[in-house]
Amino acid sequence: MSDSPPPAAWSLRKRLTKGLVLTALLPMVLFATSLLLGEWQRSRHELLLRLDANATLSASVIDDFLEGQLAGVRLLADQMGDDPALQGEELARLLHIYPSMLRIQQVNARGDVVAVRDARDREVPLLPGVAADEEWFVAARSQYRAFVSGVTRRPAYGNEAVVGVSAPLLHDGRFAGALQADVPVQAFVRLNAESLARRKLELLLLDRGNNVVHAGKALRWKALDAAGARGQEIRRIATQAGRATRVVSMGGLLREGGVAYVEAVVMRNGWTLALVTPHSQLLAPLLPRLLLLAALSAVSLMGVAWALWLQRRLLEKSIGYLLGSLHGYALGGRMVPARTDAIPVELRPLADGIGELGTRMNAAFDEVQAVLEAREHEIAERTASLREAVSELDRLSRTDAMTGCLNYRGFAEAGERLFREARASGTPLSVLALDIDHFKRYNDLYGHAEGDGALRRFAGAVRSALLHADDVLARPGGEEFTVFLPATDHAQALQVGGRVCQRVRDADIAHMGSPKGRLTASIGVATLQPGDTDPEDMLRRADAALYRVKAAGRDGAGA
Ligand code: GH3
Ligand code: MG
Ligand code: MG
Repeated sequence: MSDSPPPAAWSLRKRLTKGLVLTALLPMVLFATSLLLGEWQRSRHELLLRLDANATLSASVIDDFLEGQLAGVRLLADQMGDDPALQGEELARLLHIYPSMLRIQQVNARGDVVAVRDARDREVPLLPGVAADEEWFVAARSQYRAFVSGVTRRPAYGNEAVVGVSAPLLHDGRFAGALQADVPVQAFVRLNAESLARRKLELLLLDRGNNVVHAGKALRWKALDAAGARGQEIRRIATQAGRATRVVSMGGLLREGGVAYVEAVVMRNGWTLALVTPHSQLLAPLLPRLLLLAALSAVSLMGVAWALWLQRRLLEKSIGYLLGSLHGYALGGRMVPARTDAIPVELRPLADGIGELGTRMNAAFDEVQAVLEAREHEIAERTASLREAVSELDRLSRTDAMTGCLNYRGFAEAGERLFREARASGTPLSVLALDIDHFKRYNDLYGHAEGDGALRRFAGAVRSALLHADDVLARPGGEEFTVFLPATDHAQALQVGGRVCQRVRDADIAHMGSPKGRLTASIGVATLQPGDTDPEDMLRRADAALYRVKAAGRDGAGA
């Protein structure tokens, strides 16, 4: 015996689906993934290039602008250094030439404001010594250096963020004061920042003191904030030399959170410029492609699934035909060959196999049918002969073997039957009770075997006297016989009785012990009477009549 488990049932649909996933879905997903990955890498590379180029360009534009402002102040300072009397008029002219400047002031060597001009003609008080501690003033006094300051807020101009550009005033080579102009940050940032923002690039400008000069709207800072640790980090990235790409990923820069790409450069004036764009920026152009690929995948998957479904349906239909032919066999006993036009070539071998099976089964069926018929025939024959035997037995069971007359059983049944029929039809019924005369002596004289022979000849003589087919001769026992005569009235019965006596005499069976010298019989005749309840009443009367005939001298019939 083998212990191996029975083979597991498997489903065609499940295997086809698995095949579909492996051969269609998986390669499609791999292809789509590699396509998207390539696309992502390409657009990332593009973005990084864009960040790099824009950062360098923006830094250079802002540097150029501030240097232009500084050049204006320096030129004026050089002119004024030779002629301190110029003062106010020249300041106004400078404001006219550089419309982005808000205000320009002149301080003397002690830091007192000696002249001021405002672009919007606001009154500005001339304060003594206010500039003495300012960085720009210190730079002008100690180093004779032109200077671009960090960002500050000017309460007088609605808290506008401004940067200062300053230059020393020298008289005969000695420090005589300084000129300083305020330039609003918006003047050199706005256009640039707006054009960058349209390309989803956020501008961040940090001054040398790590304060925010400008921050794009999506960034977490606003102008004049201290940039803190993140600012330091950005400045460190900008100053790191020799990197392959200066773009890095950094968190904590965006107002809405998330990681961003950052490109930072150090400007010529010592500030730091950074361009920031969120990582999600990369996904935006990928989304339509992703959707397109998903739609394409869905459509082609649906197509394949439909093809599979169709194939399965055709297969089921074809197998249905094959099953139908098998079913026909189960129901009708004969196999109907499958319709070959409904079966695809792939299933032809199966159909042929079933056809062959059908031919064999049909042949076997015919064979079995023939055997069955032969058997049935045989059984019918045997049944018939058995039935015959049984009816013969039945007949024999009612027949006296010696004389061929009905025996006692047959006599009793015939008596009952005839009594019923006569009662039912209202026709008469008569009976003869026969007794051979001096038969005891016959036996004594001729022997018992001769006696039997005489009984047989006697019965034959009696039978020859009965003319109706319905007449019934019985030998209930010994040498006593009974004859039932249906549809026979009393007079007719007496006639039949006389005829029987005559026939017995005519038989001429020698009997030396009888006074007549031959075998004779005495017959008592009786007929059914309306008061009789059963055949016995009639038989008793016949016996009584017989007794009377015996007493009257025998060899005759009487009532
Ligand atoms: P009776 O004229 O008064 O009838 O005189 P009987 O001698 O015939 O008297 P009974 O009818 O009483 O006698 C019947 C005899 O018939 C007795 C018996 O020996 C004989 N017998 C009865 N059955 C058979 C039988 O089957 N074979 C032979 N051989 N004899 C039989
Ligand atoms: Mg007797
Ligand atoms: Mg007798």
